[in-house]
Amino acid sequence: MEEQARILVIEDDRPILNFLKTSLANKGYQVTAVMEGEKGLAEAAQNVPDLVITDLGLPDMDGLEVVSRLREWTELPIIILSAREKERDKVEALDKGANDYLTKPFGLNELLARMRVSLRHASRLKGQAEEKTVYQIGALNIDLASRRIFKGDEEIHLTAIEYKLLSTMVRHAGKVLTQRYLLNEVWGSECVEHPQYLRVYMASLRRKIEVNTAQPEYIITEQGIGYRFAEDNEISAD
Ligand code: CA
Repeated sequence: MEEQARILVIEDDRPILNFLKTSLANKGYQVTAVMEGEKGLAEAAQNVPDLVITDLGLPDMDGLEVVSRLREWTELPIIILSAREKERDKVEALDKGANDYLTKPFGLNELLARMRVSLRHASRLKGQAEEKTVYQIGALNIDLASRRIFKGDEEIHLTAIEYKLLSTMVRHAGKVLTQRYLLNEVWGSECVEHPQYLRVYMASLRRKIEVNTAQPEYIITEQGIGYRFAEDNEISAD
């Protein structure tokens, strides 16, 4: 079954791209290949693949950025294929959410083996969480693929931190998220002891999305624990 998996390859080195297209297709995979990061992100959002293989040195953006942008809305497996071989680069890619890392020059059999591992892992996770890119909650329309947020007809502009906070909560709407979880997700593990960051940014987010910040409907404080983003059916219709 995993042999028919759909693979998105993002690689600007044409000989490698052609080699991957041919050899993966020969193994029965359905391959889509693009040479730029933005094209890869657009393709992934439109036609969600089962696995992404990406180079790091892309003409329009760093492959690490591709990983971060994909991780804003999907847990699909990502394998990095790169000439960068420093441990720091690998750690950074994995920290950003890549599943695996192969250094060029690579062996096809090793790549195929790693792909099978990643696909098996992903199929175990499937069904545990719904993969969605667009959330409609009350008057809010949040599109995690394009990173645009509307409140009714009005577009809401968020800072990078506000966006990360909002998207993290929205992906878990209805679920209580601890302060520690949010601090770790948004600011990183070194900031988990700084709940004041959350208070400041929750206040600015509420000013942008709530009708009445004294009685927030979207971002609900769970006293002493953390926060919960409301589900659509909790928001009053007025
Ligand atoms: Ca490259």
